[in-house]
Amino acid sequence: MAAANMVSVFNGKVARFNEAVRVKDADAIAEIGAEMLRIALEQCANPNLSTTVKQTYRKQCAAVIDHLVSYVKQPPVAVRSAGGGEEESDPYYTERDWFSDDVPKLNFKDIIGVQEVKDAFMVDVVAPLRPEFKEVYHKFRGDQLGTQVLLYGPPGTGKTHVVKCLAGALNCKIAVVQTSELLASVVGVAEKNTRDIFAQAAELERCIIFLDEIDSICSDRSSEDSRHTRSVLTTMLTCMDGFIKTKKPGQLRIVVAATNLPWKLDPALKRGGRFETQIYVPLPDWEARKVFVAQGLEKVPHAADVTVDYLAQRLDGYAGADIRAVLKQIANEPLRREILNIIKNKKESGEFITVADCEKVLQSYINSVTPEMLKRFQAYDRGIPY
Ligand code: ADP
Repeated sequence: MAAANMVSVFNGKVARFNEAVRVKDADAIAEIGAEMLRIALEQCANPNLSTTVKQTYRKQCAAVIDHLVSYVKQPPVAVRSAGGGEEESDPYYTERDWFSDDVPKLNFKDIIGVQEVKDAFMVDVVAPLRPEFKEVYHKFRGDQLGTQVLLYGPPGTGKTHVVKCLAGALNCKIAVVQTSELLASVVGVAEKNTRDIFAQAAELERCIIFLDEIDSICSDRSSEDSRHTRSVLTTMLTCMDGFIKTKKPGQLRIVVAATNLPWKLDPALKRGGRFETQIYVPLPDWEARKVFVAQGLEKVPHAADVTVDYLAQRLDGYAGADIRAVLKQIANEPLRREILNIIKNKKESGEFITVADCEKVLQSYINSVTPEMLKRFQAYDRGIPY
């Protein structure tokens, strides 16, 4: 079975596992848990599978194992609620701090290209905080600070990076939430975690909630895993409603979601004051690619014909993350030769990057962004059915 289909089968099992947990069906928990572990073991041994997908398998398996261990150690116990009725303690839930203690040491100057995205954040959130713009904002928008933005675009174009830079620029704390990880927890716990994120945010003077892979909570309604994901989506939508509309002066709340699959999103996410602002984060253009390449070559010895223009041309169609990875692999070529020389001849031989090194790496590197993917994004961006 193709790896992508197997992911979907596995997600179906996650949903069935969660349901078995909800109804406390120990046989189903053991049986489905074992199937999930078997699939994950097989898939993680597949050399062609991306590290990200393997990571997801591992995380979900860790959740299954944690669950099985706690179930064996301590089956759910009934406790008295404050109101005198019976309610269940949840051995699978531990409260955690969603907001990092440190503000990212990044700023808008660390963002390469994507001018439209920078401008949107500048106008929407950075400028309203500056005294010189106060009056003009008051005239058009009242005193409302904060925003809810959806960033979409191919993987590696800097969606996460831009939001971390925004947090740095605003000097505010950020919660980076991998939505797919949230879903991997058992029924009820994902919803509790979602409520915790928003409750913790409400305590802060300034904060950003970054919901990465938001598409993972928008399953096809007919699919097997839809019940669990719908419930988490509903909780998230409820938490988001009115969240940014704080009355406290100076309080700033920003929610940014990101997706590589915008066409999968539930329309409910785009309606009624939720993610009304949607921004496409494109691949770097010619000028941006030149900046990435210039930074990558800056301190590494290279031949005269390994120019910024040559590499920027060859890296057309690559995202920023891929460009950085390609440049790193290219620099590894002369490094490897140099190390071997030192081992053999006990001295450096002055190796540098050659055009042959660049071409070798470019031929073997698997670009995360395919032409097909790009066509789909361009169609979506223009509202053309694909
Ligand atoms: P995405 O969230 O779109 O998948 P990331 O933000 O995780 O992409 O990008 C991965 C890394 O690639 C970043 O940490 C950063 O080093 C680099 N990168 C990607 N795009 C940019 C950009 N526009 N400006 C600066 N760095 C970038």
